[in-house]
Amino acid sequence: MRFDLHTHSIHSDGTTTPAENAALAAGAGLSGLALTDHDTLAGWDEARDACARHGLDFVPGIELSTEDDGASVHVLGYWIDPDDPDLAAENARLRVSRSDRAGQILARLADLGVVVDPAAVRAIAGTAPIGRPHIAQAMVEVGVVASLDEAFDRYLADGGPAWVVKHAVSPEDGVRLIRGAGGVAVLAHPGGHDDGEVRVGGASLELVDRLVGAGLAGLEAEHAGHAPGTVSYWRRVAADRGLVVTGSSDFHGSRKGVRLGASTTSGEAVDVLRGRRAAVDADAAERRESW
Ligand code: AMP
Ligand code: ZN
Ligand code: FE
Ligand code: FE
Repeated sequence: MRFDLHTHSIHSDGTTTPAENAALAAGAGLSGLALTDHDTLAGWDEARDACARHGLDFVPGIELSTEDDGASVHVLGYWIDPDDPDLAAENARLRVSRSDRAGQILARLADLGVVVDPAAVRAIAGTAPIGRPHIAQAMVEVGVVASLDEAFDRYLADGGPAWVVKHAVSPEDGVRLIRGAGGVAVLAHPGGHDDGEVRVGGASLELVDRLVGAGLAGLEAEHAGHAPGTVSYWRRVAADRGLVVTGSSDFHGSRKGVRLGASTTSGEAVDVLRGRRAAVDADAAERRESW
């Protein structure tokens, strides 16, 4: 029983439909699949139906954008209530702020002599909240850079010349929003991303401990982008704190060279996570009674 607990679709910055993700998961022999688009639940219905057709256990998810002192931190949320008003309001805020930020990034790029048509970016994003990978794609299409990685390295990476911060809540508030919506929260790719020889954007233990205080349930130690030493380090961090270890591909279709199912989570770990959701619900019920 293996699950891929972190995949994207055209509803954020992936290139496949939710139904295609389900077909890929079935083809990879998985038992279950989570759809975790950035700041939206828009692909859930299609993913749920397609998973049912393929006999897959569907785990409804989100990858919530948060920010810690200028650094972007991604918090995965599973089994959240789609009607939760606080989470819906935050997703709506993020969508508007992403759209505003895209305009600001294009203005910065223009100042740097790189002219990208806003309509092209909008067309690439479709109905998804606009993310930097969409802008990077438009830059490749214009021919200013040869790859998405080059667009990030030269212009768009956190702190880069065309980078603009977007509105986001703190990671602790992100965990609280997910818990408040009846879900469980997992810190995505705690070891950060490989950027050539350097790892960027990794979490600190101080951040992990703050998130544990806010009710974090798991760590994505087995992210497909983490080197073996990074995985074992974050496995130890999780074990020391009683956190569930998850594994996933962070599949983005053709926008990243990772196949769906490249890293996975055991069925037992998924059950433990589900169980923490029940505990969260009980906590929430208790809090409501004490109000
Ligand atoms: P955004 O949500 O617009 O802030 O964009 C975040 C997304 O951009 C992440 O989910 C990654 O897929 C991608 N990304 C962030 N930093 C880099 C980087 N240095 N190189 C390549 N992709 C990146
Ligand atoms: Zn993404
Ligand atoms: Fe992420
Ligand atoms: Fe992701």
